[in-house]
Amino acid sequence: MKAFVYHGAGRRAREEVPKPTIQAPTDVIVKLTTTTICGSDLHILKGDVPAVTDGRILGHEGVGVVDEVGDAVIGFKVGDRVIISCVSSCGKCENCKKSMYSHCLNGGGWILGHLIDGTQAEYVRIPFGDNSLYPVPDGADEEALVMISDILPTGFEIGVLNGHVQPGDTIAIVGAGPVGLSALITAQLYSPAKIIMIDLDDARLEVARQLGATHTVNSSSPDAVDQVMAIGDGIGVNVALEAVGIPATLELCQAIVAPGGHIANIGVHGKPVQLDMEKLWIHGITLTTGLVDTRTIPMLLKMVVSGKLEPQQLITHHFSLDQVEAAYDTFGNAAKEKALKVIITA
Ligand code: NAD
Ligand code: ZN
Repeated sequence: MKAFVYHGAGRRAREEVPKPTIQAPTDVIVKLTTTTICGSDLHILKGDVPAVTDGRILGHEGVGVVDEVGDAVIGFKVGDRVIISCVSSCGKCENCKKSMYSHCLNGGGWILGHLIDGTQAEYVRIPFGDNSLYPVPDGADEEALVMISDILPTGFEIGVLNGHVQPGDTIAIVGAGPVGLSALITAQLYSPAKIIMIDLDDARLEVARQLGATHTVNSSSPDAVDQVMAIGDGIGVNVALEAVGIPATLELCQAIVAPGGHIANIGVHGKPVQLDMEKLWIHGITLTTGLVDTRTIPMLLKMVVSGKLEPQQLITHHFSLDQVEAAYDTFGNAAKEKALKVIITA
């Protein structure tokens, strides 16, 4: 089968590899119909994620059709259309029982396209299929559902829910990439009064306005903090969502959060960040972090199918699996190409 394979930092290829086979009775083999590329895949290609080894098929998002099931699988049969969660989970361990799927104790968690072969291929093996796949409802837009594998639950769970966005709040989302924009889309379920989107890229800020941001601030401007504070009536924002993953943006969140407010960190950080505890403590600031569990997939799925959420608005480009390298080039030059999510049809 065709697959997109990582061969060490900076080396990648679309190549022919053997089709995956059932290895455990709870496995499901899925034939992909649609997949996409995530910012994490770009980090892996740069060599930033050493756990990913030579020969690994990348990708942890996708929609497809069940091709084969292990003997212990009860919830799915050959021919069923499924959404793949970016997080695999046994559903039985102590952490899974608490819906902390990303910390599955039986070998689940974020493993796809990371510790085992992923979804940028014609077929993928999904461990613990019963708990890691979700049925595609009849009539659903499959491209919209690809956004449910990772980015929509990430923005919602780690941003909106952890940050306790409330009706009437003033919130700021730092980073208008696919994850920050997913937080923007799902934050509106809670009717915040003002949503300030912050990024360096004016094109992404324009997209954010179309998706419901009431204000935008380009953080390259020297008075960016003052602009946010003015919008926040001089006291700042009730919730600051960090969706970039660098020290500067978490520091920005600390500068703009109002007393009693929340900082919800979504970004994946590779370095220590200064926490100004001498200011945060007296302001009663709550800081949350986390890896997405995808426990809200069933709820998000219903909202996407009913049209209450339209994550397909994040799709900017389409490619076939044969063109996966061009898809990476486009996604890797997101600012120049005005790319958000690229759909790859397998
Ligand atoms: P992305 O790279 O597409 O978007 C990041 C955005 O931040 C870009 O639009 C960029 O212009 C902007 N940016 C960069 N520096 C900035 C600055 N100084 N000020 C303001 N904006 C700045 O990434 P994405 O795919 O949207 O993901 C966002 C983050 O979420 C990444 O760190 C990613 O690894 C992380 N993530 C976390 C989880 C989780 O479970 N916690 C899951 C998926 C992704
Ligand atoms: Zn588990």
